[in-house]
Amino acid sequence: MSAAGTAEVAVRHILSDKVTGGILRPKTRTITWASAHYTVERPPSGKHTVELTCTECSASLLAEVRDPSTTRTLAAVMRVIGIVCAVVFFAALAYAVHEGGKTLPEGQSLPVLFPISVVAVVVTFVAGPTFYVHGRNYTGVSMLDAPKPRRGHQIRPVRAERSRVRTRR
Ligand SMILES: [Zn+2]
Repeated sequence: MSAAGTAEVAVRHILSDKVTGGILRPKTRTITWASAHYTVERPPSGKHTVELTCTECSASLLAEVRDPSTTRTLAAVMRVIGIVCAVVFFAALAYAVHEGGKTLPEGQSLPVLFPISVVAVVVTFVAGPTFYVHGRNYTGVSMLDAPKPRRGHQIRPVRAERSRVRTRR
């Protein structure tokens, strides 16, 4: 974690966003960006707005920064939701496999809970990892509504950036 009163973020200027393939070859999305690192101050409580300037095109971007304790709480809540989703996923999967594998006596249909468990498996399979990853990377910094020329920018936590270095110019 970064120091309590600050957050490390990267401002990305999206240079190109191309999608190739899709018909014969698998779809690949290539995004290139230039990024600049910033250290933003956190407010003692609540949230405040900071202005960051893109080093690439000098557009000014507004970011909302939350206080350290709210950031920690929200990050923890997201991780917990992710873990709960994982628990629900395995429970629902076990139930669906159990009920779906039964040989039913004639005239008897599957219990109502069966389709619900199938939906739960699908939903938690997607939501669980999403929440968990968001919780791990959450820094309490989010970009505010970005009309032109702020479009084509992203604000990312620096911690996540380090794990997958894709910065190209
Ligand atoms: Zn820019």
